[in-house]
Amino acid sequence: MNNHLNPTTNNRQPTTNSNFHPADKIQDLQYFGEFGGVNPSISDSSTYTFLSAKTMFDTFEGNAEGCYLYSRHSSPMNLYLGQALAAMEGTESANVSASGMGAITPVLLQLCAAGDEIVSSRTIYGGTYAFMKNMLPKWNIKTRFVDITKLDQVTAAITPNTKVLYCETVSNPLLEVADIEALAIIAKEHNIKLVVDNTFSPLSVAPAKLGADVVIHSLTKFINGSSDTVGGVVCASQDFINDLKNVNDGASMLLGPTMDSLRASSILKNLRTLHIRMKQHSHNAMFLAQQFEKDGLKVVYPGLPSHPSHELYDSMINPEYGFGGMMTIDVGTLDKANELMELMQHRNLGYLAVSLGFYKTLFSAPGTSTSSEIPLEEQHEMGLTDGLIRFSIGLDNDIKRTYEMMKQCMTELNII
Ligand SMILES: *Cc1c(COP(=O)(O)O)cnc(C)c1O
Repeated sequence: MNNHLNPTTNNRQPTTNSNFHPADKIQDLQYFGEFGGVNPSISDSSTYTFLSAKTMFDTFEGNAEGCYLYSRHSSPMNLYLGQALAAMEGTESANVSASGMGAITPVLLQLCAAGDEIVSSRTIYGGTYAFMKNMLPKWNIKTRFVDITKLDQVTAAITPNTKVLYCETVSNPLLEVADIEALAIIAKEHNIKLVVDNTFSPLSVAPAKLGADVVIHSLTKFINGSSDTVGGVVCASQDFINDLKNVNDGASMLLGPTMDSLRASSILKNLRTLHIRMKQHSHNAMFLAQQFEKDGLKVVYPGLPSHPSHELYDSMINPEYGFGGMMTIDVGTLDKANELMELMQHRNLGYLAVSLGFYKTLFSAPGTSTSSEIPLEEQHEMGLTDGLIRFSIGLDNDIKRTYEMMKQCMTELNII
C-alpha cells in the first residue's frame, strides 16, 4: 500500500456464502469510510504518492498489489463499485467505465486483433451494432450477425478466425432471449469467448453462472436507476480484468473510458436498492403486459406464455426478480405510436425518452431512435416494425390506475 494513512484496512471483503444466488449479495458488502462512515470515503485524487521510489517502480510493473498509481488505471471508489458488481454477477473481478459503450468497445478490442471475427446477435443495442458494423472493419475485424435464438445459425457462422460470441441476455429492443447456457457450450467447443450484455436483466439473470466469460452492463439503466449519469462495467475473471487494465496493451487503460470516482460513489449508493426496484419494475411490467394482451394488443414481454422464449427465460431467471421491466407494444404505424406516446406524456404517464430503468415509465419508438443505426431493410428483416413502442415500465405504486389511464389514451386514439 502506498497510503501514508491507510483508511481502507478496516474494510471487510464481502462475505461469501455459496448457497446464495450471486445476485443476493448486494446486502453482504461491508465497507467503512475513513472515519467509520457507513459509506466508503470518496477519494478524489488523480494521482497517489509513494513512500519509496522502489514501490512506484513495482507498481508500474504491476507487482505491487493494493497500490494506487493513477486514477485512469484504478481508484479506491471505482474498485469498491467494481467489487460490488462482481459480487452481484458472481465473477472474480470487474472494471467500471464511464459508459456502457466504454465497457463494450474495450472488451471487443481486447479480445480481437486484425483478421479476427465476431459472431453477434443481430438484435442488439444500436450503438454496439454500429461499432461492430461500421468501426471494427477499420481494424479489419469482421462481424457476422445471426439470429441468436437459432443455435445452428450461430454454429454455422463460427470460423477458425472467430474469437467472440456476443449477445444480450434479453435483446434490445425486440426482447429476444439468448440461451446463455447453450451458447456457452458452443463457445467452449470452439474455444471462443462468450460476451453477454446483461443490461436489461440485472439480478434476474446471472450470465457468468450460466457459462458466460464476460458480462457487461450499461450502469446507465436499471443499475443506477436515476437517469442522472451514464456508466458501464465489465465483470470477468481477474486475468481478463488485469488484461483490460494493463499499462502496455490494456484497451480500458489505453482508450481511457474511466469513470469519475464521485460518480462511482453515487452509483454504488443506488446499487443498494436495485433488488427492491427490480421487483417493482417486473411486477408492474407483468401486470401491464397481461392486461394489454387481454385487450388484444400485440404485446411482447418475456413473462407472457405467448413469448417464444418464455419457458427458456423462466428456467434462466431468479424468480424473485421476475421477468424484468421492459415490454414492447406494436400499435401498427409510426404515426399511431407517436400520437400515443405524446398523449401518454401529456397525461403524465411517463416520458417520451430513450433509455430505461428510471422510476418513471419511459417510452420511445426504437426504429426511429435507439435502433436508427440499423438500416431500415435490416430492421424489417429482424421484425423491428414501425409501430413498435418500447416501454421501460416505472416504479408506479398503483399500477392498476396507470393501466386504466394508459388504456384510456389508447381508446381515445382507436388503438384498442
Ligand atoms: C444503453 C445500452 C448500452 C450502452 O450504454 P451507455 O451507457 O449508453 O454507453 C449498451 N447495451 C444496452 C443493452 C443498452 O441498453
